[in-house]
Order: sequence, then structure tokens, then C-alpha cells
Amino acid sequence: LDIICDMMIHVGFEDDDRYDRMRRFEWMDIDRIQSARCMVVGAGALGNEVIKDMVLAGFKRITVVDMDGIVPSNLSRCLFFRETDVKVSGKAKIVAKRGMELDPSCSITGIHSNVEDVVDWDYDLIIGCVDNLKARMHVNAHAYHHGVPFIDGAIDGFIGKVQVIVPGGPCLECTLNRTHVELMEMRFTCTGNGEAFVPKKASDITTASIIAAIQVREALKLMSDKQELCIRDILYYDGMSGNMGIYTVPVSTSCPNHRCVDESDNNSEEHG
Ligand SMILES: [Zn+2]
Repeated sequence: LDIICDMMIHVGFEDDDRYDRMRRFEWMDIDRIQSARCMVVGAGALGNEVIKDMVLAGFKRITVVDMDGIVPSNLSRCLFFRETDVKVSGKAKIVAKRGMELDPSCSITGIHSNVEDVVDWDYDLIIGCVDNLKARMHVNAHAYHHGVPFIDGAIDGFIGKVQVIVPGGPCLECTLNRTHVELMEMRFTCTGNGEAFVPKKASDITTASIIAAIQVREALKLMSDKQELCIRDILYYDGMSGNMGIYTVPVSTSCPNHRCVDESDNNSEEHG
């Protein structure tokens, strides 16, 4: 009976720790995850899921940036948004507020702004949840030049992609092909003063939550100093077939990001 009582007390004690089950991953550094300063760019379908997973997984210091307001078509994919938020609030502020309701010990700052206007890039990690190439390239360049790891997520219908970019390794711009450049040029031509042209694509919660979960899982590895466990470099997911594949990419000799880093640093490290 004493043994059973001891076990019951012991079990109760363990269950008092919010992160007990996560501490059972021997490689996971919960203290570091809690102290990591993270920026999430984009508070739409991916951003909602990323913030949810980050808060539940123990990230405590998060800044979320988005310039958009909430519209009814967001409600099918964004767990933090309510009908009463529509046309009243900005996405970033609402995600910050509701994320802190999930865990009041978190500090989440919502910045209602275009990412091009962000001046502080002093973070331990940046997670990209944007829906357009122009913003993605902006974040990529700033993350790279500030030496901040960047986990970019993208969804298009049932297709998703996650790229893990670490200092010294290939960046997003290394993977740009002619189609991407044409898309970006089209955006610039169609863009008025601050008005971005974003074609509406099919999007659903299942693909968003899978890709966001993979992004946060990579964040857990990176912030636990386990870069060797991370996706190298790109994960593609096809939700129609259920297939997933990992593709490595080289640093592109024509990518301007590495030229600048090499010139200023002259000490670029091999990826991995
Ligand atoms: Zn590059």
C-alpha cells in the first residue's frame, strides 16, 4: 500500500509540471525554448497555428507582425479569431491577446505593421508565415544578415513547404528560379502605393496546421541547439497523396545574401 501511495503522490507531482511530458525528450532544452526571443511574421492561417503550437510547446517571448485586419474568410482557418473580431481588430493584436489567454505566463507582442517597416531584427529565431514572395524575400534577407535562423512556411492548396535556413547555409533566395522572379515582378507592377497584389489561392486548415506544426517542431530543435536534427534544407508536403520529401539545396553563387555576408565576414561556415 505504501508503494502504491508513493506512486500516486509521485504521479500527481509530475502532472503539476506543465512541461513534464516535453522534458521526457532528452534532447529538448525547455529553459532555452522558454527564454528564446522569437518573431513570427504573418498572423493568418499559418501564423495562428504556429503561435498556438509555440505557446503550448513552451515558447514565452514572441513578437507577431501582420498588417492585415480580420475578414470573415479567415474564420475557417484561424482558431484565435472570432466573428466579433471581423473588421474590428488587426490580426497581430488578436493573435497576441488570445495566445496569452492560452498561457498567461507568455509575453506576446502584436505589431500591426507591414514587415518592411520592422526595424528590430534582434531575435533568436524568426518564423515566416506570409502569403507572398516579396515579404518572404524581405524576411529572408534581414534574417540572413542578422545571423538569425529563419524557418519559412508556405502553403498552396494541399501543397506545403518548410525551409529551414541557418547562418552559413543556403537561404530562400538561393532557391529562386525564373518563375519566382516573374511572380515577384508581376507583384511589383501590380502594386500601387503600399497596396500589395496577392492572388487568392485555395487554402484549408488541415494543410496549414501540418505545415505550421512542422515549422514549430524545427523551432524546438533549433532552440535546443540540435541543428543536426533539422530538415536540410526543404520539406515538401503533398496533402493529396500524403507524400513528403526532403530536398537539400546548395548555396547559390549568384545569391546576393552570401556575397554580402562573405565580404563583411570573410568567414562563412559550411552548412551543418
Ligand atoms: Zn542565398
